[in-house]
Amino acid sequence: MGLKERAFRRSLWIYHFNASSCNACEIEILAAISPRFDPERLGVKLVGSPRHADILLVAGPCNRMVAPILKKIYEQMPEPKIVVAVGTCACGKGVWHDSYAIVGVDEVIPVDVYIHGCPPRPHIIAAGLAQAAKLLEEKAARLAKR
Ligand code: SF4
Repeated sequence: MGLKERAFRRSLWIYHFNASSCNACEIEILAAISPRFDPERLGVKLVGSPRHADILLVAGPCNRMVAPILKKIYEQMPEPKIVVAVGTCACGKGVWHDSYAIVGVDEVIPVDVYIHGCPPRPHIIAAGLAQAAKLLEEKAARLAKR
């Protein structure tokens, strides 16, 4: 691994965004990053600004009012970045699939990892984050070759 490629390696810093979810996905996300699973020992932690984040974790179906905010948050994140949709609503609008008010997360920003479930269990979220870490590493390697 070259120096430039190594420079892109990092711990997973996550920015979590609630795109109008019912909050049950949030509870499972918090459980996934709590001391029981303790992902912080692997460098995984929540950050308060998208400018510091590698991963954007989105839960909820994304309504029309929230869509421009979600897009702006995505644009503020530095490359390489990965978007993870958590829950059936974020993955495919869920029960809101035919609602006029819902646009869907992947119609606003590109989604890399889909974690299904209503809500998904914490260990499923942890597995999704591991997949996101792998994708992030691949993206970083591609960027380093430019
Ligand atoms: S997927 Fe289920 S738990 Fe998650 S926001 Fe939608 S309705 Fe709530």
